[in-house]
Amino acid sequence: MRDVQVYASGVIAGSAGGGSGSVDSSTVVRWAVSADGPAAHVDPANWWVDELGVAQLVGATRSAVTGSVHGASVAFAERPGIAAGCDAIVTDHPNLALVTLAADCVPVVLADPDCGLVAAVHCGWQGLTVGVVSAAVRVMVQRGARAMTAVVGPSICATCYPVDDDRLERVRNSVAPSVAAEACLDDPARIAVAAGVVAELHSLREIGVQRIDQVPGCTAQDPRLFSFRDSGTMNRHAMVVAAFHDGDIPEST
Ligand SMILES: [Zn+2]
Repeated sequence: MRDVQVYASGVIAGSAGGGSGSVDSSTVVRWAVSADGPAAHVDPANWWVDELGVAQLVGATRSAVTGSVHGASVAFAERPGIAAGCDAIVTDHPNLALVTLAADCVPVVLADPDCGLVAAVHCGWQGLTVGVVSAAVRVMVQRGARAMTAVVGPSICATCYPVDDDRLERVRNSVAPSVAAEACLDDPARIAVAAGVVAELHSLREIGVQRIDQVPGCTAQDPRLFSFRDSGTMNRHAMVVAAFHDGDIPEST
């Protein structure tokens, strides 16, 4: 494998790596963020992803990738490929890495190691208004998830994300008050999308989101990450998650 730079990585559960969680679980769930070339090279025509490079970030050999249409549709992935039209993917297939690409929007991964479910979500300000993160969590619950951990990836910070008043009001009027309180900042108008996502995840505690971790970093300020707002780039960094069952756990990468 080519040497791929990893921005951040961790283990939601399992005996490998330095993560926390149920370390005696028979399921290992790994996640990673990388902005290295082939790991998330985007062809604007078809959102092509170097599948092997991305999957190998977590030790998997195949991957399914979210779309990026700023909606609330959730795909259940049975096989590798692009979930066109869906900003969220859920799977219970081990060794199938779920990938979401972003350059300012918030990438989120979720896992319930006890039932082997994982999810990847792409959420910008529009995803906040339509509740894509909640939609993904509900699909996981329908599939049997009871105790989920969420990891919120790096995104553009509120300071770097001034918006016009109209956009701010659209967000404020379409999310729960607890989310608006965190996401909508006045004078000047700014949106803290990641803070809104965290607030949304907190509101899902009673249906099973038990732990929320956040990767620090602002995409507009950290040169290791891509920012569409800052540079207009078509490049995207990738956030990846995969589960591996006992007996099928690859060497830690
Ligand atoms: Zn910033």
